[in-house]
Amino acid sequence: MSAAAVEPAPVMPPPMAVARVASVRKETYDTFTLTVEPCNGQPLPAFAPGQFSMLYVFGVGELPISISGDPNEAGRLLYTVRSVGNATNGLVSLKPGQSVGVRGPFGTGWPLEAARGRDVLIVAGGIGLAPLRPAIYELLRRRDDYLRVMVLYGARSPRDMLYRKQLAEWGRVRDTEVLTTVDYGGVNWRGHVGVVTTLFSHVRLDASATTAMICGPEIMMRYVIREFDRRGLAADQVYLSM
Ligand SMILES: Cc1cc2nc3c(=O)[nH]c(=O)nc-3n(C[C@H](O)[C@H](O)[C@H](O)COP(=O)(O)OP(=O)(O)OC[C@H]3O[C@@H](n4cnc5c(N)ncnc54)[C@H](O)[C@@H]3O)c2cc1C
Repeated sequence: MSAAAVEPAPVMPPPMAVARVASVRKETYDTFTLTVEPCNGQPLPAFAPGQFSMLYVFGVGELPISISGDPNEAGRLLYTVRSVGNATNGLVSLKPGQSVGVRGPFGTGWPLEAARGRDVLIVAGGIGLAPLRPAIYELLRRRDDYLRVMVLYGARSPRDMLYRKQLAEWGRVRDTEVLTTVDYGGVNWRGHVGVVTTLFSHVRLDASATTAMICGPEIMMRYVIREFDRRGLAADQVYLSM
């Protein structure tokens, strides 16, 4: 008897929910935060900090975008999008009331459980702060579960900085340090100037007690990891999102 060839089962993409754009908020000159809510009675899924959705802009295309809102706010999802091309431009041009397709969430979340009882160092560059924001919400909500929380954020210029008001608020939470820097300051900027790694000299890093989470341009992550090596942070305590 000859064995019959077994056809692999077709891989079906996860179903798409149709959501309604509730608002589009301008963060910077090229970056916007969309809030989407359920429509047609289809609930939006829960997500873990660090996960992303596939968003479908009808008539334009589908693209991956990280979820940037508070994981504890049920019933809506936030996305912070930099308009760089066709699909992102279509997304940020949506008007309240228009529809968008949402699949997911996909991807692995940040290791918030594994980091319990430790210092947490967040290092973000540019739009990389968006996928880390849900983790920051969660760390600050469960503040007693962690030791120090440090957020280092670098942007190209002051006008590229995301969530400026929130960064200031987070910096006022006890045992939480928020340091920001820009590549080019301009005349009115009174803060740090330099790449994000220059902020390392302003924080006390306890290498054996620290878990680090990084997201930003590849070149930034490379330099940050070099800095961690220099400071003795164990590779298995460093998490990054490419
Ligand atoms: C897991 C994941 C999560 C993400 N999360 C976010 C997020 O939260 N927010 C966000 O803003 N983005 C996010 N992105 C990136 C986002 O998906 C892309 O910016 C988006 O897909 C770009 O699509 P587009 O059609 O708008 O731009 P495209 O037209 O694809 O262009 C994107 C960039 O590539 C350049 N480019 C395009 N074509 C060429 C070419 N032929 N040669 C050279 N350069 C070219 C463009 O100039 C532009 O800079 C994420 C990506 C991934 C993989």
